[in-house]
Order: sequence, then structure tokens, then C-alpha cells
Amino acid sequence: MINLEQYGYIPTIPVPEGLIPGRITDHHGSHYTIITAQGEVSAVLKGTYYHNAELREDFPCIGDFVHILYNDSGPSLISALLPRKTMFSRADFSGHAIGYVKTVLEQVVAANFDYVFIMTSLNYDFNISRIIRYITQAHQSRGQPVVILTKADLADDYGSLVRSVEKAAPDVPVHAVSAHTGYGLDALSKYFQPGKTIVFLGMSGVGKSSLLNVLMEQEVMTVKAIRDDDSRGRHTTTHRQLFMLPSGAMVIDTPGMRELGLFDVDYGLSAGFADIEELTTQCRFSDCRHQTEPKCAIRAALNDGSLSYEHWERYQAMKRESKFVDDKSGYLREKRDFGKSIAVWNKQRKKKA
Ligand code: GDP
Ligand code: ZN
Repeated sequence: MINLEQYGYIPTIPVPEGLIPGRITDHHGSHYTIITAQGEVSAVLKGTYYHNAELREDFPCIGDFVHILYNDSGPSLISALLPRKTMFSRADFSGHAIGYVKTVLEQVVAANFDYVFIMTSLNYDFNISRIIRYITQAHQSRGQPVVILTKADLADDYGSLVRSVEKAAPDVPVHAVSAHTGYGLDALSKYFQPGKTIVFLGMSGVGKSSLLNVLMEQEVMTVKAIRDDDSRGRHTTTHRQLFMLPSGAMVIDTPGMRELGLFDVDYGLSAGFADIEELTTQCRFSDCRHQTEPKCAIRAALNDGSLSYEHWERYQAMKRESKFVDDKSGYLREKRDFGKSIAVWNKQRKKKA
């Protein structure tokens, strides 16, 4: 038996007869993985859930606590979402949206965390105004922000960078660390306390996975406990987005957090991609996708080695992540379509009922 309180569960709401509480550790679309006293189970939303959930934010996400109807021979059914202590939702452009559209904009990507690790690397992508925006977002989530400056081993003198964060945000703790050398990690142990949940926020490449791997190193115990469980068929995936660390704390590292839409439109320049931005202006076609188009300056530079693949891939990753900012109208359209499809499901289900 697993004690769910070790997963941060606080039994404030009575659990209805026949249901059990659980915490969501992973989900892909409507398929959820949930940790419960019975171990890890697969679950889907109960049919009536669609009747009652009007908004996208009513749907469970990583870190949520739920009540489920446990089923030991197939997927369990999620019947209720418990109130959230903290949450991050994806880019909310509500200033531009009205009524119905505004309500479907929020998509919650992580919930019930204690600390928000705002991660940025000390070498190339240090940007104080972005850190400040992340801090604002963390406060809005009701989580406690902690600034983590990564790759300290690569920075000669990062003292002035640490001080610039401290000066701009006096109430927020700042830590310089290195996942490679282990430098500074001891100071983080005060956050990694049993039952606490930390969410990683930061662009790809800043070292989130590396830090998680270091923290998970002695993770054998938890992994073993899950494998020992008799329910081999139940957990169909080993993929997780909420990780239990050996210290008893949990980390949420979900791709959703990388797409919060917090990024500067001009981030490409500030992060040291000016060379690439310059090259793209030399392609023959202004809308060149740098794939099969003739006279593409990017492909030419990759071929003659004057542009490294690594640098180019990094740039593309950055572009993908800032898409939510660059393409607001496309983003709104996607959200609106999602809202419509929920409305359609609801209608169809109501008809059937
Ligand atoms: P993520 O995309 O945020 O998960 O970043 P990763 O953990 O995948 O790291 C991206 C790159 O940065 C990899 O090449 C890592 O080896 C490197 N990296 C991560 N942490 C450190 C560090 O502390 N020091 C150095 N020198 N490199 C690091
Ligand atoms: Zn091109």
C-alpha cells in the first residue's frame, strides 16, 4: 500500500463511498496515469465528467488530485477533480479575447506544486527581464518562485548575474548550480522535502533534464516499488511527468511548462541567434522554410559548415517554444476549436443519454 499523503495529498474533502483519491502523474490526451494507495493505475474520465466540465481548465492535469472509481481489471474512472492549491495555465491572452473565447483559453498544465524553479542558464541565455516575467507568472500561480541559474561550471564570474537577480527581485531566493559538477546542489535540499512538489520552468536546453537526472540518481527504490506491484497490465507506459525523488519530494517536468508563452518575440536576437536571423534574410524566398527551397542560405551554411547543426537545432527549438507568442491568432483559433469540440462532445453525449 502506498500512503498518498507522501504524494502531498491532504484529505480535506471527504471521499465519497466507493471512490479512492489519487494524484495524476502523467497523461496523454484523455489517458491518465494516477498514483493511488493501490499503486499506479491507468484511468480515463468518467462519461458524466464531460457533461459537467464546461471549461478546459476543468480537466485534470499533471499534479492534480482526483477521486476515482477504482477498477482492477481495466481503466479506472476519474469522477471528480479536487480544488487546486496552485496551478499554471498556458498563455492566457485574455486581454484580446472576449466572452466564450476567453473562458476556453486557460489550459492548466501543472497543479498543486509548492515551488516554481525558474531555470535559466548562466552561459548564453541569461536575460533578467525574462526572469522577472517568470517570477510574475510564478506568483500568479500562487507557487513560491526560486531562481535557479544553471551551468555554473561554464560561467567565469556569475556573481554579478546573481546580484542582478537579487536586486531586481529581493524576495526571491537565487541559487547558482551545476548539474555536471554538483556545485550548489546542497543548498537546494531545503526545497526537496518529503511531500513537497517542485515544478521546473525554463526553456529547453537550460538543463532541466540534467538536474532531474542528478536528483533521481538513487531512484531505484521507487521504481522498484512500482515494478513489485502485481498490476503489470495497468501501467502501460513508463513515461512520467511527475517524479518521486529519493528525498520524498516530487518534481513536475512537463513539456507543457515549456510552452507557457512567456517568451520574447525578439528572444532569438537576445539569446545569441543574431547570426541565424541574419542568414534567413539571405534566403531567396522570404517565407523559406529552409527545407527543399532553392537558394536557401541556411542549408548552404549547414552544408559548408559555417553554421553548426547544434546551433541551428537550438534555434529551431527556441522558435517552436515562442510560437505561442508569435502566432497569437493561430493560438486563439486552436483554443476556440478545442472549445467547440468540447461543446460538440457534450451535445452528442447528452443526445445519447
Ligand atoms: P533541458 O532541455 O532543459 O532538459 O536541458 P538538458 O538537461 O537536456 O541540457 C541541455 C544541455 O546542457 C545538455 O547538453 C547538457 O549536457 C547541458 N548541461 C545541463 N546541465 C549542465 C551543467 O550543469 N553544466 C554544463 N556544462 N552543461 C550542462
Ligand atoms: Zn532558407
